[in-house]
Amino acid sequence: MLGFILYCAALALGGKFVTANNDPSIFERIMAGEIPSEMIYEDDQAIVIKDINPQAPTHVLIIPRVKIPKLVDANDTHQALLGHLLLVAGKVAGLLGCADAFRLVINNGAAAGQTVFHLHLHILAGKGFSEAGLASPFN
Ligand code: AMP
Repeated sequence: MLGFILYCAALALGGKFVTANNDPSIFERIMAGEIPSEMIYEDDQAIVIKDINPQAPTHVLIIPRVKIPKLVDANDTHQALLGHLLLVAGKVAGLLGCADAFRLVINNGAAAGQTVFHLHLHILAGKGFSEAGLASPFN
């Protein structure tokens, strides 16, 4: 009953604040061609696009075609896919000329900075990184 009331309230708000987990993610909409993006690489399991709000001179996102909301939602059936994403990271770093120095980041959960709930790996390169700054947002 409470769920129904909340659902009606959400409808009354025009659905503005409601994103059901099975709604297509922004990345699925990019893959469907509904939203433009700058594609760097694609294969049957993943795409790589430029981040729309780059945090480094090189900032791209490796995105599996299958929507796994967060890394912790991955299970044993995703083992090969997760390995593939790391291999793509190395391949794309080579394509982008940053294979010698890049940082690979996965934000898992809103409190860790995740804003798009479709697993993705950030490749960041082209600026100085240091071990001391690894967790800088928390310092
Ligand atoms: P995260 O905060 O780890 O979930 O990362 C989500 C990333 O997606 C952010 O760095 C955003 O800038 C990026 N992003 C959001 N929308 C788009 C888009 N339409 N095209 C490319 N990157 C996007």
